[in-house]
Amino acid sequence: MKLAVVGLGQCGDRIADEFARLNKKARSQRGIEIVTGAFAVNTDAADLSGLQTIKSDYQHRILIGGRRTGGHGVGKINELGAEVAKEDSDKIIDAIRTAQRFFETDAFLLIAGVAGGTGSGGIPVVAQTIRDRYIDKPIYAMSILPFAHEEETEERTIYNSATCLKSLYPVVDAVFLVDNQRYVRKDFSLRNNLSKINALMVEPFYNLLCAGEEKRTKHIGARTVDAGDIIQSLVGWTVMGYGKTPLPLFRWFSFGRNFIKKSTETHRGIQAMDEAISELSVKCNPSDSGRALYLVSAPAKEMNMDLVKELGDYLKGMAPEAVIRNGDYPRGKSLIDVTLLLSELSIVDKVKGYYSKASGVVHEFKGRRDEFERKLR
Ligand code: GDP
Repeated sequence: MKLAVVGLGQCGDRIADEFARLNKKARSQRGIEIVTGAFAVNTDAADLSGLQTIKSDYQHRILIGGRRTGGHGVGKINELGAEVAKEDSDKIIDAIRTAQRFFETDAFLLIAGVAGGTGSGGIPVVAQTIRDRYIDKPIYAMSILPFAHEEETEERTIYNSATCLKSLYPVVDAVFLVDNQRYVRKDFSLRNNLSKINALMVEPFYNLLCAGEEKRTKHIGARTVDAGDIIQSLVGWTVMGYGKTPLPLFRWFSFGRNFIKKSTETHRGIQAMDEAISELSVKCNPSDSGRALYLVSAPAKEMNMDLVKELGDYLKGMAPEAVIRNGDYPRGKSLIDVTLLLSELSIVDKVKGYYSKASGVVHEFKGRRDEFERKLR
């Protein structure tokens, strides 16, 4: 599957940059393209200059609202983010439209941190603009939820998150919810934290996007997951999970396909599935999902259809209402990994929590926005 990736605001841009890096990796390691174009949109010129992989011309790093913000951002006022995105939406569409390989795009992926200003306000507006132009292509959003400390200390956080998600949900086909707090690891140093987190957030897309683009028979599974399967599996609130189990080196000496080997493979697969479920991108209950997709990737010798089927039975036990799609992807040397999508979630507590907490503070923030705009003038 090939995506046109558009990041909005600092968070969205950095993660879009990570997708550009992922595409480079797919090209060099596998000879595959999974991103037709990666774009960064921001009101802050300095943030745009800090990116590494997205092309540095103005058609890929798109500065919006320059006239109103002087290139210094919107200061977490997401209504202002929405307004400048609307005013400059032609600039964004124009850049996407003229990208070299745009015609190969299967779907759009828009990315933003919901608690900020530019991305939070801009993402629903840009999604709607793309929707009006490209009726036939699915549009997905990747919404990054704030850290717990931001929710506790910055009042605007909850309000921005709630208003962003509420206006985004009806205009896109699916919203990937990704909670920053779930990616904090004790062993990350503070300085590297965000870039490590961004890499972890993007990692599950690697096999998922590559599997359907493989041309060489030895990497094509018995059941391939292609763009059609992914599109069918994505509706509404969606979470992702990724788990991997390393394969011991000495396994190469155990030849034959005896029952012990097979049960060990299944066990490793279940272990990877367990990790994917326990490390979902947002805490949720799998039984609330209406659709699910899992992709198992392992060296061809380690893969068997029983493994794929057992994982399906295991998932069905946890998500009994879900229509489950699956696939296998014979790749790699040293791991079995499982990529999991749970979609059409009826309830996500985190989103419900934002909505109910934000309803009381709407008027208060309206006043502060007027004050911010006065300062800018
Ligand atoms: P904007 O530039 O006005 O859209 O604001 P930001 O993109 O900085 O949004 C703020 C939110 O995004 C906060 O919840 C931050 O924790 C989060 N954030 C900012 N940069 C990053 C990043 O590089 N990675 C991740 N995962 N989150 C980020």
